[in-house]
Amino acid sequence: MEFDDVMIEGYEQVVRAHDPASGLVAFVAVHSTVLGPALGGARFYPFVDEDAALTDVLRLARGMTYKSAVAGNALGGGKSVAIVDPDRKTHGLLHAFGRLVDHLEGRYVTAPDVGTNTDDMQVVHEVTPYVGGLPVEDGGSGDPSPLTAVGVHQAMRATALHRFGSDDLAGRSVVVVGVGKVGHALVEDLIGAGAHVTVADVDGEALARLEQLFGVKIAAPDVAHTITCDVYAPCALGGVLSPSTIPELGCQVVVGAANNQLATPECARLLSQRGILYVPDYLANAGGVINIAEETGGYDPHRARRRVETIYDRTLDVLRTADDEGLDPVAAAEAIAERRLAAAR
Ligand code: NAD
Repeated sequence: MEFDDVMIEGYEQVVRAHDPASGLVAFVAVHSTVLGPALGGARFYPFVDEDAALTDVLRLARGMTYKSAVAGNALGGGKSVAIVDPDRKTHGLLHAFGRLVDHLEGRYVTAPDVGTNTDDMQVVHEVTPYVGGLPVEDGGSGDPSPLTAVGVHQAMRATALHRFGSDDLAGRSVVVVGVGKVGHALVEDLIGAGAHVTVADVDGEALARLEQLFGVKIAAPDVAHTITCDVYAPCALGGVLSPSTIPELGCQVVVGAANNQLATPECARLLSQRGILYVPDYLANAGGVINIAEETGGYDPHRARRRVETIYDRTLDVLRTADDEGLDPVAAAEAIAERRLAAAR
């Protein structure tokens, strides 16, 4: 197994790993350990090339620093990506990935993300202790997705209060794009709250399950963002809010689970110019990382849920700070995170 340090300004440590035996090619990026060990999920995805994988891991790791800072966790920010088709994961590949995590000696703690799950984390845990989000029966906090969905739902309620004057989502129209682990749980919560839900996904089976369970409407993934609605909830991959999609948006607010929803940082301004309220992704989707942070000192699911529900107040704080300081919500959340990081430094 070969490890190469990649020097990237603004990052504490970036490592590329290549394991010829299993075929693993992966990167770990540690953006910051100022508030604690850098926690962030492992994304297994068939990236087109190493540049694409590196770009993604850097964006995601930085996002984790801000997410934990805004969420009030004693954790830093990091992330890992492996260039692999998730359907072709092997034990050997997961063990090699675990050795990469172990190589960072606890500065980076991994967890499930797109393309990985708690079963994979158990296999990774066979070769390194630095794993969060293990199954509950193994002393972990389990799959974080349901609580990530709870956090998105709370962020949505707070945003509805700020935008529409009531946090009641009954009768509100919500378009959820990506109904995997988080999106599915979010749709369940939204249906329970009385929202009118439309879903889109590239996976026909995931859609059929929801249609059968709740009779939700289905839209094509490439046009779902254009649907006239109150809330657009991106819950698939990143980069969906871009200079080409923002003019086409049919929603009033964007609150979703996907990481790195903005294709470029200036998209936050484009959204504000269109009068669309955007809740920073790392705030809306902090439920997962708050849940894993709760593993320290013995996991209690009730306490974890209560802490995730604080995303409601944290969202209101960001939206009010944005109004008070004349910032867009992304800049407001960053300012709140920067203040916490500066205080810790
Ligand atoms: P997942 O892999 O379970 O689900 C993703 C879903 O998106 C799948 O159903 C997939 O078919 C669909 N999808 C992929 N490409 C699509 C496209 N172009 N259009 C429409 N649908 C598409 O992943 P997840 O765990 O539900 O995570 C979803 C997003 O939330 C990711 O961006 C992830 O990083 C983020 N997130 C997840 C968690 C968590 O707890 N799982 C926590 C924080 C953030």
